[in-house]
Amino acid sequence: MTSQSYDVIVAGVGAMGSAACWHLAQRGLKVLGLERFDLGHAMGSSHGLNRIIRLAYFEGSHYVPIVRRAHELWAQTGAEAGMQLLHVTGSVDLAPEGAGMVESSLKSCLDHGLTHEVLDGKEIARRFPAFHLPAGHLGLWQPDGGFVASEKAIYAHVGLAQSRGADIRTNEPLLDWSPTADGGVTVRTERGTYSAGRLVITSGGWITDAVPALASKLTTVRQAIGWFTTRRPELFRQGAFPVFILTVEEGNFYGFPLYEHPGFKLGGPHFAREPMDPRDPDRTPSPQQVAMIRECLARYLPDAAGDPLTLKGCVYTVSPDEDFVIDTVPGVPQAVFASCCSGHGFKFASAIGEILADLSTSGRSAFNLSPFSLGRLAA
Ligand SMILES: Cc1cc2nc3c(=O)[nH]c(=O)nc-3n(C[C@H](O)[C@H](O)[C@H](O)COP(=O)(O)OP(=O)(O)OC[C@H]3O[C@@H](n4cnc5c(N)ncnc54)[C@H](O)[C@@H]3O)c2cc1C
Repeated sequence: MTSQSYDVIVAGVGAMGSAACWHLAQRGLKVLGLERFDLGHAMGSSHGLNRIIRLAYFEGSHYVPIVRRAHELWAQTGAEAGMQLLHVTGSVDLAPEGAGMVESSLKSCLDHGLTHEVLDGKEIARRFPAFHLPAGHLGLWQPDGGFVASEKAIYAHVGLAQSRGADIRTNEPLLDWSPTADGGVTVRTERGTYSAGRLVITSGGWITDAVPALASKLTTVRQAIGWFTTRRPELFRQGAFPVFILTVEEGNFYGFPLYEHPGFKLGGPHFAREPMDPRDPDRTPSPQQVAMIRECLARYLPDAAGDPLTLKGCVYTVSPDEDFVIDTVPGVPQAVFASCCSGHGFKFASAIGEILADLSTSGRSAFNLSPFSLGRLAA
């Protein structure tokens, strides 16, 4: 059995944890990253090649400063790692006029001076003929949006962290942890006991095991994504087609231009709430969600409504107000956690890693984290 000591232990080396390992190791700290599975596994929330990054943020203007920093860091980290992590394709939020999404995205652009255009149905069809939308849909176009190569991003952060001495241990889950009398922590795994001055908990869908205070606040649900045969791939290639969020009567769907797969990727419906226990090893996507994705393609993107080439299931961790939870563990200031959840967290991971490093080293962040406090969910 091992017994070693570190400056910081990071529990969960997925999107947020890998970024935290890099930002901590970059500061010269001795870091241990513990991961339940192997890197690039398909059991959590970050697999499936890519994730949308939108700067026009209908979920709330307060996210924009953090996503701007994340955008900058994705480009920078990609360059340092020698991998293209950020792909700028432009983003378009599509919804019926008055439904709220385009209006909220527009507000975030106006609040933060983001370049944008509001497109009517005719203009959407002219620029992006792949969409066949109902009359009355508007689009909010933002040219800096795009996607992040999600699996590569984890590899990039881990590789960079290792290059600065981080110790990354896969297939070694944290079993339990406790604060110590000297203000540090002790962490136990099947292979040993480790001590550290600080603990960062980024265990995604499993976070309530390590932070019981979250147990009554977060739920985990199953989400489906699929890649479908397109009969006109030229309409969906990068340069011709943006990332998008689409609100229609069937729900909220999201999609990407073609990327490292012959099929067109569509996910959703975003607000589907089919509870799942992440401990259940079955990641088969729900047949109901797959049927809804196929229906969405047939009605609104008919040139990509071919047979599914790949279907995957994935875990969403959902908070009651769908905002993130980033805070210290109640009564244990040396332990911080981030549940950047509700299906929209990946784009922020590069910045959240930096935020977690700031919180662990100075107890402060340059960003206003009050919208993400655990206390707001107290009622
Ligand atoms: C289908 C789908 C589509 C999405 N689309 C988008 C999108 O387009 N844009 C966007 O911004 N966001 C999107 N999201 C949300 C985003 O992907 C998540 O917010 C993000 O991946 C969460 O990162 P995480 O680090 O919290 O979780 P993960 O990346 O899952 O990492 C958690 C890690 O902790 C490990 N772990 C668990 N327990 C332990 C333990 N006890 N000890 C050690 N390790 C442990 C897990 O194995 C896992 O590797 C999507 C999510 C899904 C599921």
